[in-house]
Amino acid sequence: DADLFAVLQIAGKGTDKLAGRLVRTLNRPYMIRGEVLTLSVSAGYARASGDGMTAGSLRQSALLAWREAKNAGGNTWRRFAQSPGERVNARGDLAADLRDAVVLEQLSLAYQPKVNLRSNAISGFEALARWHHPSRGTLQPRVFIPIAEETGSIHEIGPWALRRACEDASRWPAHLTVAVNISPRQLEDGWRFLTQVTAILNETGLPPHRLELEFEETALIQNPEGTRSILNGLRDLGVRIALDDFGSGPASLRNIRGFSFDAVKIDQSFISMMEIEPDAVTVIQAIATLGKGLNMTVIAQGVESQRQAEIIAQTGCTEIQGFLISEPVHLDDVENALSRDQVLSLSH
Ligand code: C2E
Ligand code: MG
Repeated sequence: DADLFAVLQIAGKGTDKLAGRLVRTLNRPYMIRGEVLTLSVSAGYARASGDGMTAGSLRQSALLAWREAKNAGGNTWRRFAQSPGERVNARGDLAADLRDAVVLEQLSLAYQPKVNLRSNAISGFEALARWHHPSRGTLQPRVFIPIAEETGSIHEIGPWALRRACEDASRWPAHLTVAVNISPRQLEDGWRFLTQVTAILNETGLPPHRLELEFEETALIQNPEGTRSILNGLRDLGVRIALDDFGSGPASLRNIRGFSFDAVKIDQSFISMMEIEPDAVTVIQAIATLGKGLNMTVIAQGVESQRQAEIIAQTGCTEIQGFLISEPVHLDDVENALSRDQVLSLSH
C-alpha cells in the first residue's frame, strides 16, 4: 500500500522514543494551498529476537503491532511483545484472525475461466478469494466471507481483492476480462466504493471495460435506490456489471430489467438440476431469451459435465463456467496456460 512505510533501525535503542516522534511529527498539521490538513498516523514496531526470526516474521509482527495502534484509534504507536507464533495460536476465533488476514498476506485469489460458447475461447476469469489460515489450512469464501461481512473485515478484503484482481489482469492479454464479486456491505457507502474503484483502475492501469463486477440480488433488494446510483456510477466509469447467482434468491424480473446489467450469471442450482428436472432447462432457456433481448451476456455457472454443456448450448446461453472447463486455479497456472496457448487444458 502506498500509505504504509517501514523504518529499519539497526542496533536500535530508544525505539519507543523514535516511534513516538514519528507519529507526533507526521501528525502535525500541514498547510497545503491555504488549507490545513492533518494526517492520522499509526505505528507499530517489533524487535528482531534472533531465534528463528526472519525478515518476513519481523515485518508481520510489526504489522500486528501497527494494527493494534490503529485499532486503538490511531495517532499512537504499539510495540509487539510476543513472538508471532504464540500470538496467532492464542487467538481462538476466526473473526479475530480474519481481521489480520489482509495485512499478514494470508489471502489469495484463485481464477476460474469463462468460455464463450460461440468462439469456444476463454473470455475472462472470475477471481475467487481463498484464505490460507496458519493452523486451519485453506478456507473457502463461503466460510469466511459471511464472517467478514458480519465483522466489517469485508471493508478490507473487498478492496484488496479488487486491487489484486485488477493488477493481475492488467498483465493478461487485452481481450480477457476479470470478474470480482462485490458484497452488498461494500455498497453501504456508495461514494467510497466508486472512489475505490476509480483509484484502483487508475493505479493498475486496467481499462475499465476489462473489469466486471458481480453483484448479488440481495444488494438490489436491500437498498434499491442506493444500489441503482452506484451501478450508474460504475456504468459511467465504463466498468461491466453482472448479476450473480440469478434465480437463487428472491429473483425478480424487475431487478434484471431495472438495472441494465451487462451480464447475468444463472445460479448453479439450475444447472445441477437440469438433467433430472426438465423444468430447469425451461427456466435457463427463459433467462437466456430474456438476456438476449436485453443485450446481456448470459453465463451458466457450475457446469460440470459435457452433457450439461451440450444442453446449455441449445438454450442460447452465451458463456459457461464450471469444473468441466476448469476448477479455479492459481495465477501462475492462468499465465502459464495462456502463454502456452493451451487454455482449454487448464482443468486437472
Ligand atoms: P460465486 O460467485 O457464485 O462463485 C462460484 C462458486 O462456485 C465458486 O465457489 C466456485 O469455486 C464454485 N464452482 C465453480 N464451478 C463449479 C462447478 O462446476 N461445480 C461446483 N459444485 N462448484 C463450482 P467459491 O470459490 O467457494 O466461492 C463461493 C462464493 O464466495 C462465490 O460464489 C462468491 O459469492 C463468494 N466470493 C468469492 N470470492 C469473493 C470475494 O473476493 N469477495 C466477495 N464479496 N465474495 C466472494
Ligand atoms: Mg460470482
